[in-house]
Parts: sequence; C-alpha cells; structure tokens
Amino acid sequence: MSDDLELETLALHTGIHRSQFNEHSEAMYLTSSFVFESAAQAAARFSGDEPGNIYSRFTNPTVTAMQERLAALEGAETCIATASGMSAILACVMGLLSAGDHIIASRSLFGATVNLFSNILNRFKIETTFVSATDVEAWRSAVQANTKLLFLETPSNPLTEISDIAALSTVAKQANAWLVVDNCFCTPILQKPLALGADIVIHSATKYLDGQGRVLGGAVLGNREVLMESGIFGFLRTAGPTLSAFNAWVILKGLETLKIRMEAHSAHALDIAHWLEQQPNVTRVFYPGLPSHPQYELAKRQQATGGGIVTFEVKGGKEAAWRVIDSTRLISITANLGDAKSTLTHPATTTHGRISQEARDAAGITDGLLRIAVGLESPRDLKADLARGL
Ligand SMILES: *Cc1c(COP(=O)(O)O)cnc(C)c1O
Repeated sequence: MSDDLELETLALHTGIHRSQFNEHSEAMYLTSSFVFESAAQAAARFSGDEPGNIYSRFTNPTVTAMQERLAALEGAETCIATASGMSAILACVMGLLSAGDHIIASRSLFGATVNLFSNILNRFKIETTFVSATDVEAWRSAVQANTKLLFLETPSNPLTEISDIAALSTVAKQANAWLVVDNCFCTPILQKPLALGADIVIHSATKYLDGQGRVLGGAVLGNREVLMESGIFGFLRTAGPTLSAFNAWVILKGLETLKIRMEAHSAHALDIAHWLEQQPNVTRVFYPGLPSHPQYELAKRQQATGGGIVTFEVKGGKEAAWRVIDSTRLISITANLGDAKSTLTHPATTTHGRISQEARDAAGITDGLLRIAVGLESPRDLKADLARGL
C-alpha cells in the first residue's frame, strides 16, 4: 500500500489477501488449525524457519487482516489482536512486567483496569501507584527505580479528563519505562498516541471499532520489537486470550465505516453537551469539545474532536440520576459504549461499583453522575428522551 493514503481509504483497502475465489469482501477463515504439505513443512512452521499459520491460538488469516488494518490506522508497525480489551491490557502487562516491577497509572481508568492493577497484579508482586490523570508532576514524582510502565486513558472514563500524552511520554522516557495509552474513546480517527510519543496503544475493539455492539475484542499496538520480542505475543500464543476469527471479521468490517461514524458520534455529542449545559437540573457537563472543559486547549491540540462520550451530573444524587435513566424510552440502559445506539450508564453503581467508595471519591465519580455514549440517532430525539427524566 502507498504511504500517503488517507485513513478512510486505509480502512477499506488494508489487510486484503484474496483467496483463490477472488472474493470482493474479505473471507472469514473459521478453522482452528492449518494443514501442512509434509512432516518437514510442519516441523519448519513450528520451529519458525518457515512463516505461516499453524493453529488459530497463534495466528489466523482473518485475525491477521484485522490486525493489519488497525495497525495501518494507528500508524503502528505491529498489532496483536486479543479476545477483549481487558485481555489486551493483561497481555501487555504479562508480556512486559515481572514480579517486583512497578506501574504508574492514571486514577481515572476503566473500573476493570483499576481492579486488574490493584487486586490481581498486586498478588504477583507488581505494585501500582495511582496518580491524577492531569497532573504531570504527580507522575514524575511517582517514578521509582523499578517503574517499568505508565498507563493512562485519555479522555478518561467517565469524566473525560485529558492526559497530556506528549508530556507523559517525556516522563516515561526519562524513567526508562513504557508509556501505554488506552485509545478506546478516541480511536485512531481522532487521536494518534504513538505519534505523540506513546510506546503502546491499547484498544477495546468491543467499543467503536466494532461500532454496533456485536462482539468483544481488543488489540495491542506498537513497534515490532516491543510486541513480538518483549513477550506480549508469546504470552498470547501460550495463554490463549486470542481473538476469534468470527469476531475479527466483524471488527474488520466495522473499521471500514469508523471515520464517518466517529465524525457523526462527535457532532451529535457536541450538540447534546451544549444542550445539557442549558438544563437547570444539570450541575456540570464533562465533554472535551466544550470550551467550559478545563482542558479544552489541550484536547484541541491532541484530538480531532471531543469524541462521543458526554458525562453530566444531575442535581439530587443517585435518585435523580436513576430517574433520568428510568425515564428513557429510546436510549439503552446498558454499560457498553461506542455502539450505534446511544447508551446511558450510572457509573457509581455499575462500571465503577466494584471499586471502594474511597477510590470512587478520589476519582470524582459522584452519585449524580451519568454517562451517555451518544449514538447515531437524531440528537433531537435523544434530547427529548433525556428531557423527560430531567
Ligand atoms: C470497555 C473498556 C475496556 C475493556 O474492554 P473489554 O472489551 O470490555 O474487555 C478498557 N478500557 C476502556 C476505556 C473501556 O471503555
């Protein structure tokens, strides 16, 4: 492929390896293993002397196609697909870290990521220090001799805090540590962490990359050396949190429309964020595309638009927040995001319900907070649906 193609073109034309039938749409290879021509070829494939597929826990042509397409969009040398976003994060830390290593992580992370770092990795003697997503000096002060990895999401879930990727990449380089960015909310259409100095990008492909709420998937992206030689791919092929060929195909096709979807999600979200700011029962609106966002300037520099997630706080705490949810007729009450259908969540009792009240307070997840992942419906209809409960 030529180097100077635009993202929407790459999303349609990368990763195509036609079979003998010359199909136009990509084929789906539902097979657990691959046949060898001889015992010698089997041996050569297993030893690595001959490239090629062996077994779908290692590689599969449909998964490879999806990996090539996502890598092209992120501007990454290599992509490793995983069964879910969480298994992408797990593969990353299991591949890169050992007992005794230290992680610095943003305090404003997806709830399951906080749980993984604080309640599972700590059993294997990998300690995590949680710091403010936005305070670069706090990251610098948290660096220890054994710090190996810095981990963040930007914008964060659910408060849409913006971490300065370029500034934190300097901190990571000085600490001789990897900077890992979960790019789930923006996707490569709106933000390119690798170009800003990150070493590794994580995706929950379950969200916008699929884009229609159909399958789970994830990915780790970065340069070949970090992914293939560090042990991330080795962990995946041995431990097996591999993306299925079927899910890879769904995501591969989802990527084809990613750009126009992200543009529409962003435009609808901005419209709804402006409208929410005018509502008397809404105390705060968190959206990086609003000039009232405390990091509006940084967001404008770092990402193309505000994205599709709007979080807002209603007067009256949990009761009032639940009333907004229970008064909807159109918006789905579900914890997923990045779907074509709008979804509404009460973070304090769902996605962030398993973390302690203390950690929730520190992260600013108040009882009146609601997160809407704005879909592709008409914003007029969405506003009418929200207005009922407000
Ligand atoms: C959903 C999500 C994840 C986890 O992805 P799964 O596919 O559900 O495992 C990780 N990070 C962020 C920001 C997410 O929204």
